[in-house]
Amino acid sequence: MKFADLGLSDELLRSVLDAGYDEPTPIQAQAIPSVLMMRDIIGIAQTGTGKTAGFVLPMIDILAHGRRRALMPRSLILEPTRELAAQVAENFEKYGKNHDLRMALLIGGVQMGDQIKALSDGVDVLIATPGRLMDLFERGKILLTGCELLVIDEADRMLDMGFIPDIETICSKLPTTRQTLLFSATMPPPIKKLSDRFLSNPKYIEVARPASANINIAQFKLRVPARSKREALRQILRKDDVTTAIVFANRKTTVRDLAKSLKQSGFSSGEIHGDMDQPARNAELQRFKDGQINILCASDVAARGLDIKGVSHVINFDTPWHPDDYIHRIGRTGRGGATGQAFTLVSDEDAEAISNVEKLTGMVIPEITLDIGGDGPRDDDSGAGETSRKPRAATRRSPAAQSGKPRAESADETRPRTRRGSQRRDDAAIDPRVAETVAAPAAPPARKPAPATPPPADDGQADVWNGPVPGFLQVSAL
Ligand code: AMP
Repeated sequence: MKFADLGLSDELLRSVLDAGYDEPTPIQAQAIPSVLMMRDIIGIAQTGTGKTAGFVLPMIDILAHGRRRALMPRSLILEPTRELAAQVAENFEKYGKNHDLRMALLIGGVQMGDQIKALSDGVDVLIATPGRLMDLFERGKILLTGCELLVIDEADRMLDMGFIPDIETICSKLPTTRQTLLFSATMPPPIKKLSDRFLSNPKYIEVARPASANINIAQFKLRVPARSKREALRQILRKDDVTTAIVFANRKTTVRDLAKSLKQSGFSSGEIHGDMDQPARNAELQRFKDGQINILCASDVAARGLDIKGVSHVINFDTPWHPDDYIHRIGRTGRGGATGQAFTLVSDEDAEAISNVEKLTGMVIPEITLDIGGDGPRDDDSGAGETSRKPRAATRRSPAAQSGKPRAESADETRPRTRRGSQRRDDAAIDPRVAETVAAPAAPPARKPAPATPPPADDGQADVWNGPVPGFLQVSAL
């Protein structure tokens, strides 16, 4: 199937072509014609599937007709985090370049005056995080009665972050005749309830999870004593043709320590975690995207959903406590058809977590060994062992359902808890081609590591968005 078969306008097809895409992804092929026919949609898909263009493209064509009015956005996209909101805005900018559409980004950390100014000029698309939107709504700075199209993106993340009551309030302020598109990686009961209440005869679309279906990600685990993890990490980073890597750890303190110790070992590394203010997070992300650093140490919440192109490796310094986070983490690599490798370091402390990951993914992750040169303490940079990859055959395990409670943003540094919701898994075990990938890893996307540069100066303005602001967001202080 081609994009041209989906019913999109010629102007839009031109920008899709300019973006370098020829064939729609499965979620795009299924969602776009139905959105154009004004159907409500439930899309079970996660980041990495191309779902953003799945709603952005038809929205652009729908909004091409009609007039903007002050303080009354014509459509609303709800995102759980500022970073995801900014990414969606970038998508609108990329695909909407041949259209006269105005957008505004309503996210925490941006001066309120600028956002009110953008709104009062009239916008076609409002991209918002629920907290900031509610704030402005309660101040009477925004009217949602003219909003005919609503997108609730990453609904299960919204649930995790406690945003569902806000979303319910927001939904009840929009016209009942609106079109609603809801996207979620999973469908736990509270999301099902939300969709039953606020969607009307939705088309249900489900696409495979990238982690279970993405044969472009070669996955490995390494059993190492906790004290040897840093040495194991350094070896992987040195020996495995790493061009760009994200190193995940479960605790913010570990993220900080790792970034520091990698720098001391001569790596070009940076950090991103929930203790950093937004300008510092954006600056660090930008350094990674620009290639000034090629290793980014990250916590789960800070890195969630980020679409960073060309990441060759994801390394789990710790096995994530929540098995879903494993899927989110490794999904940072192998994007858009590129190949990627994901390594997970497993110490005794990680034993239960890795077993939960394997239950959730329905596969046993192939194990490789690493010669770290003896049993002595390895938290210095003296080890010089060799990586020896001996993958074991991947075997299937039966899928398992997990249950538990929602978690909040602050869970970045909390101890493990059981997961909410039951998880339906695709019945895909690791592809046998993984073994080939081990023997002859496909070249990851070229990206040049650059020498380490000092961390960005903290400008002390914790409440000011300092990251990439899309060109359409023409703001000026009131
Ligand atoms: P998303 O799931 O929306 O986060 O998108 C994941 C990645 O897929 C992004 O880097 C997109 O630019 C890319 N992408 C979107 N649509 C396509 C397509 N039709 N073909 C190839 N890559 C795509």
